[in-house]
Amino acid sequence: MPPAQTRVDTLITNAYIVLEASGAGADAQQQALEAGREIDGGWIALDAGRVMSAGPSTQAAPLADRVIDAGGRLVTPGLVNTHHHMYQNLTRAFAPAINGTLFQWLTTLYPRWAALDEESTYLSTYVACAELLLSGCTTSSDHMYVHPTPNLIDAQITATTEIGFRFMANRGSMTRSVEDGGLPPKSVVQDEDTILADSERLISTFHDPAPGAMTRVALAPCSMFSVSESIMRATAELAEKHDVRLHTHLAEDKDEDTYALEVYGRRPVEYFEDVGWATPRSWVAHYVYGTEEENRRLAAAGVSATQCPSSNMIICGDAADAKALRSMGMSVGIGCDGSASADSANLWMETRGALLLARHRGGPAAFSAREALNMATLGSAANLGWADEIGHLRPGACADLVMWESAPLSQTGAFTDPVEAWVRSGPARAWHSFVDGKALIESGELKLAGLENILPRHRAAARTMQGLD
Ligand SMILES: [Zn+2]
Repeated sequence: MPPAQTRVDTLITNAYIVLEASGAGADAQQQALEAGREIDGGWIALDAGRVMSAGPSTQAAPLADRVIDAGGRLVTPGLVNTHHHMYQNLTRAFAPAINGTLFQWLTTLYPRWAALDEESTYLSTYVACAELLLSGCTTSSDHMYVHPTPNLIDAQITATTEIGFRFMANRGSMTRSVEDGGLPPKSVVQDEDTILADSERLISTFHDPAPGAMTRVALAPCSMFSVSESIMRATAELAEKHDVRLHTHLAEDKDEDTYALEVYGRRPVEYFEDVGWATPRSWVAHYVYGTEEENRRLAAAGVSATQCPSSNMIICGDAADAKALRSMGMSVGIGCDGSASADSANLWMETRGALLLARHRGGPAAFSAREALNMATLGSAANLGWADEIGHLRPGACADLVMWESAPLSQTGAFTDPVEAWVRSGPARAWHSFVDGKALIESGELKLAGLENILPRHRAAARTMQGLD
């Protein structure tokens, strides 16, 4: 008797599948197909939250409980977002702040954010994850650094768990208020003992180091202009003790150079190194204004960076030179940044933004769609120390993937390279989206039972925070 044929949960057939985004240059597609990183007209099998196998149409696929015919659509690993402040969708495009510098923008909004509570944090996280899902994102971190009341990260994890979204909570912190020479008001900062105790509590309660985890915790003092030197050092030690990731903003704005020289007598990167953060455990948001020598030092130390294209263009005027940083061996991921700076949370748009920035800086041969997709998948997964399981679709990877909508108008006429067409001819939307093997978007519709009820509550909380009601 022949052996019984394998049976899996889900089989996607007739797809153009990117198992792993890489490569550059004119021959990238051919190279990717020959190397087996991409499959034209193939199938991919998911079972028990994992990618089981994938192959071309000429190879027999396993039986499945559910078979989805992709109709030739593009399937990619789910995009990974590595810098966000989800609560900020409560003050999206807030008129009094929109034309300020970064520091003016922050000081206008800090007093509004002092009204955050568990309810508004839960609502804003729910909305942020739904918004991210539609743009093809399946894992996000979130840098939550405003804690006017306790247990806000608990509220976030309630939302991400209800949705079934893969999440790395970043226990952010601020300790230096205006009275201590910092930027934020006293109402949104905390003392060091409170921060460290809460960090330990969150790690022991929620951080799951096991393979296939849905929730992990990282530690994330906000920025050098809002935290003390001692909390930076203590946080790095705590991260080492519990083997969790470290995150902060670094070299986002030119004002930061002036501030660091005045307050610490050092440049931002020198300060970052001196407080014990130049390790492979750290990933930094933005990283626009490092010198070439500083870039080389951080790359050699294993630090990785997140580029936030929309946020940088809208508020800072420059962005990380991702191509140069990658050529030095630094992993560079992609983030949408807070919804009050970028005013949207769309990972497809940020991936396209990364492509545009690199080509705007270096010319038409400087960067390809595959390199941008590589940033949003493997680059971002490396930011989170999670590249073994997410950001690719090799057998054994987490079953986090997106089948993209075939847009009849914006993509008609695009035949020669589906990956280039995806990033150039948008906007692209997730058609089917799986997280941990479970469908969270089907035929373009979010499968979130709670969303209808969440949106009016979010609107009410946002209006209150903005002083409109
Ligand atoms: Zn940020």
